[in-house]
Amino acid sequence: MTAIKLASNENPFGPSPKAVAAMGQTLAATHLYPDNDARELRQKLAQRHGVQEEQVVVSAGSSELIAIICRALLKEGLNAVTSERSFIVYGMATKAAGGNFVEVPMRNNGFDLEGVADAVTPDTRVVFLANPNNPTGTIFDVDATDKFLTRIPGHVLVVLDEAYYDFAQHFATLRHLKYSHSLEYVYGDQNVIVLRTFAKAHGLAGVRVGYGIGPLELMKRLAAMRTTFSVSGLAQAAALAALEDEAHVARAVQNNAAEAERLCKELLKLGIHVAPTWANFLYCEIQEDAEEFADRLAAEGVLVRPLRSWGAPNAIRVTIGTPEQNNQFLSAFQRTIAGSRAL
Ligand SMILES: *Cc1c(COP(=O)(O)O)cnc(C)c1O
Repeated sequence: MTAIKLASNENPFGPSPKAVAAMGQTLAATHLYPDNDARELRQKLAQRHGVQEEQVVVSAGSSELIAIICRALLKEGLNAVTSERSFIVYGMATKAAGGNFVEVPMRNNGFDLEGVADAVTPDTRVVFLANPNNPTGTIFDVDATDKFLTRIPGHVLVVLDEAYYDFAQHFATLRHLKYSHSLEYVYGDQNVIVLRTFAKAHGLAGVRVGYGIGPLELMKRLAAMRTTFSVSGLAQAAALAALEDEAHVARAVQNNAAEAERLCKELLKLGIHVAPTWANFLYCEIQEDAEEFADRLAAEGVLVRPLRSWGAPNAIRVTIGTPEQNNQFLSAFQRTIAGSRAL
């Protein structure tokens, strides 16, 4: 039995075959530097999202753009505000830029937007909102976001990180809820950047490509701060092809929604309550030390993420896999839990 990795929220079906073919075609040209401006990809993204090309910055994953935002807007004495138990890169990038990192307590395992707005001071330059949140899988909806933004002063950039957009949008359709209209804020010239990535639903985590969309002048400034040639030709070709492969994304989000429901039911039978997720992973409170639990689960062939570093020592995050992977996870989980309860 080979171990399966359900620890980093990757697409269990792999990259789009169209992206693989496109990368194959660029292999023989890898002695050439890539297009530093990612012109073709930016044009396509701009068209798709109804913005100007210069409003789109393509980066080596959205993580690179998060780091650039922090370098551009923060320094000693200034701060970034987010929620506790959110994306780990926010704190790393803020501190690397010399800024203070302010984490607001959660409410029901999700962002407390009122609390975040209350924490904003004259020294705040950036607010990071992960929607859905990683690692808890929760969202805040359109009304909550609208209301939040009315409370945020213009000197603060709000980063709406929608790494799991396709999954959340699919859940929102099934659940009859309005998840996000984040681009409306950009159209309305608000101080908001929307982050998206090819790492999750599109299955391209390994080639490092993501993007942000925001106010024209700010995006020009951020584009100039990118590391030269940070997005490879392979990555650009893969992203362009992945954008055209809607069936691949649809397969991932449909499998994800069906399997999320099944996994939650099965885990509930084992006495594990999981909050409904809006992303491609489950946040599970397991009432015991999660690192130890994850080690024992790894010995059973399944890798998950224990969340001590997020301040949740008794929680794991497990990526929703293919039906076969999830079966393997469930039986490994069952054996591991049985082991704990026998102690
Ligand atoms: C995975 C993830 C990203 C994307 O990271 P990349 O650098 O594009 O791989 C961004 N934000 C959140 C919340 C994530 O979980």
